[in-house]
Amino acid sequence: MDRLSGSLTPVELRAPGSWQIGTVNSIKRETPHVKSFRIELPMWMPHLPGQHYDVRLTAPDGYRAQRSYSVASSPLDEGEIELTIDRLDDGEVSPYFHDVVVEGDEVEVRGPFASYFVWRGEAPVLLVGGGSGVVPLMAILRHRRRAMPGISMRLLYSVRSAEDVIYADELGGDAVLTFTRKPPADWTGHVGRIDGALIAKSGLDSGTAFVCGSNGFVETATHLLLEAEFEPERIRTERFGPTG
Ligand SMILES: Cc1cc2nc3c(=O)[nH]c(=O)nc-3n(C[C@H](O)[C@H](O)[C@H](O)COP(=O)(O)OP(=O)(O)OC[C@H]3O[C@@H](n4cnc5c(N)ncnc54)[C@H](O)[C@@H]3O)c2cc1C
Repeated sequence: MDRLSGSLTPVELRAPGSWQIGTVNSIKRETPHVKSFRIELPMWMPHLPGQHYDVRLTAPDGYRAQRSYSVASSPLDEGEIELTIDRLDDGEVSPYFHDVVVEGDEVEVRGPFASYFVWRGEAPVLLVGGGSGVVPLMAILRHRRRAMPGISMRLLYSVRSAEDVIYADELGGDAVLTFTRKPPADWTGHVGRIDGALIAKSGLDSGTAFVCGSNGFVETATHLLLEAEFEPERIRTERFGPTG
């Protein structure tokens, strides 16, 4: 039921739920290194686009590892969340999801969290993502398409090569891509790292900006947005990892 259609205000910020056991309903391979997991939650509550969940793994000897993963789905998908996970070869949690978890498995999660990196219906909006940093931005884009399609929103998405594009089948005219290493053979768009020209191409020079990716990506993109005269207090950032 689309009870949130047309407005984001019914989604109140509440205390996140306690740990619960979700069931992995489906797994989609997005790229060679990235998979999306649709997880059904017994104590589901609507999230704000941009929020994340914590995931906890417990080994037979009691050892625990906990990581955060952004919700990729719209809160209109009642009863479930989608998490999109990039596999880090030397990681603890992300390879477990990729190599061990299968459909029907149970996973322990808690959320939703975050009150700052969330979209509450502001407009216009510029989304700037690098690599798996596109995940929470996709939740915002998906929700806008379904709940508030009239709002002006663009996604600038920096990705290494064609095979690394997450959600490739969902990126339409509201997304502008740049390929930093290997663009597709017939590519006529932007290549190389995100720059002022790419931000100008978005057609948005004011409003709220959401930036997500590695530390280095977020630093660079924020600097460029400030140069493009976005107001500092309207630039929200989320950093995923320690590398630049
Ligand atoms: C709020 C928030 C939301 C996040 N959302 C997502 C998401 O939607 N999808 C997603 O794939 N990840 C997301 N992350 C990153 C995620 O929480 C983990 O850090 C990541 O999956 C690595 O965990 P791991 O156990 O596999 O690797 P670890 O065992 O933690 O680390 C292995 C090695 O990789 C390095 N490393 C750790 N994290 C990263 C990273 N992100 N990039 C590059 N190197 C890293 C470590 O320094 C270490 O050398 C999010 C992080 C935060 C804080």
